[in-house]
Amino acid sequence: MTDKLQKRLRQGKKDIARHAGKIATHVASLEEALDYAEAIVRTVREPLIMLDKDLRVEMASRAFYQLFRVTKSQTEGQLIYNLGNKQWNIPKLRTLLESVLPKDIHFDDFKVEHNFPKIGHKTILLNARRFYKDGEHILLAFEDISERTRLMERQISSEQRFRALIEKSEDVIALVDANGKVLYTSPATKRVLGYPPKEFQKLTNPFELVPPEESKIVTTIFQELLQKNGNTARTTYRIRHKDGTYRAIESIMTNLLNDPNVKAVVINYRDVTERQEIEKRKEDFISIASHELKTPITSIKVYTQILMRKMELVSEHGNLPMLQRINAQLNKLSQLVNDLLNVSHIQTGKLPLKSERFNIKELILQAIDDKKELGMQHRVTITSTGSCFVYADRERISQVLINLLDNAVKYSPKSKNINMEITTHGKTCITSIKDFGIGIPKDEQSKIFERFYRSEPDSSKFHGQGLGLFIASQIIQRHGGEIWVKSALGKGSTFYFSIPTKETH
Ligand code: ADP
Repeated sequence: MTDKLQKRLRQGKKDIARHAGKIATHVASLEEALDYAEAIVRTVREPLIMLDKDLRVEMASRAFYQLFRVTKSQTEGQLIYNLGNKQWNIPKLRTLLESVLPKDIHFDDFKVEHNFPKIGHKTILLNARRFYKDGEHILLAFEDISERTRLMERQISSEQRFRALIEKSEDVIALVDANGKVLYTSPATKRVLGYPPKEFQKLTNPFELVPPEESKIVTTIFQELLQKNGNTARTTYRIRHKDGTYRAIESIMTNLLNDPNVKAVVINYRDVTERQEIEKRKEDFISIASHELKTPITSIKVYTQILMRKMELVSEHGNLPMLQRINAQLNKLSQLVNDLLNVSHIQTGKLPLKSERFNIKELILQAIDDKKELGMQHRVTITSTGSCFVYADRERISQVLINLLDNAVKYSPKSKNINMEITTHGKTCITSIKDFGIGIPKDEQSKIFERFYRSEPDSSKFHGQGLGLFIASQIIQRHGGEIWVKSALGKGSTFYFSIPTKETH
């Protein structure tokens, strides 16, 4: 062998050694990479599996076992399609997976909805990537979006439900901004006001359709409503229908401008034109009927009293109790008719006052005497700081006093005392009537002055129509005074009313 040849041989060996070293380093780094990939698969929090080129599971992450409640031995070495009762044997997924390797593609967010034997119905997103490491592999990641999907579906269905509620509502529901600009109006706008929603939305504001004589008050109510978040105002006014006629609309407005979900004033419009007409007819009927009833009741009463007197004269006392009962029932009947007549006068604003100056203490003494003559057995004490002159309708104030006295007697079945007090307060005279009876629950104290309101639990025990306090409060208001009550359940009630001492009405 020549020197030259030996030299080349030595050089060749060196080269081989150098390349072997390089190959060893390469192999070592490949093994490292393999360990690295494996370490990732084993530790990631996401459900993940690594498949070989035949789509057999090489390894799976812990999260995968946890999600599908399967073990390592049930998984590793298995074909993906055979995993867990062949639940992944989905044709579309099969096509996708089988094209990942040959075509070197990947896929994202392939959605699988499946009823898994152990974990129930799930919605899963699949993502696949091909990579090379000692051969072909596929990384398949699973994202469980079942909860998210359920929440979204629930949200959509609740949104649809609320939308249907608004869209199918008989009433118009509108959203307006602080300037009154219509942001939304429900389909009922067409039926109630004749305007298709889009056309109604083009109005500068919905109060444009209110007749001039009412629009000022409606605008004021709206402006007041804007002052406080959460405020609600209920009012009835007329709105011009597209056909030119005016409809009576009851509107309920709620200020939800500060509510981040609404950011508007919500207005509910209800057409009450027909209801108002029926109510009017009913009021007219009550007014006519009670007026017509007055005359026959008065004549029956007169004849009954004549008969009573005749029987007393001839000392025929046998039938007297019967006539007295007729008389008592007639008193009740005429009281009811008077109440109905008063109510209908109040409704139509025809409650005339014949005011004069008089001492209210005298009127109170007179009312107590009248009640005693009619059989009142309660003891009434009066406290006053002197005489108190008022300017009022004597008849009407007497009506208020009698009503309050009647109630003090009626609602105090166990106590026989009533205390009355007269005081002057600035330019008013305040009269109070205190009883020690059943009392009125706190939440009902403001309602008892409403028409036909009767306290629930005791309304069956005590006879009445729920009109007396309504009439009394209207009479006092007409005089420019006030009426109120303080009461404790089971202890008694004190009713107060104030009337001006000077001419104000
Ligand atoms: P009525 O007595 O005919 O029911 P009112 O209008 O006079 O009608 O009174 C309305 C309601 O207020 C009554 O049904 C009763 O529940 C309550 N009420 C009125 N006065 C008294 C009182 N002095 N004590 C307790 N409850 C009263």
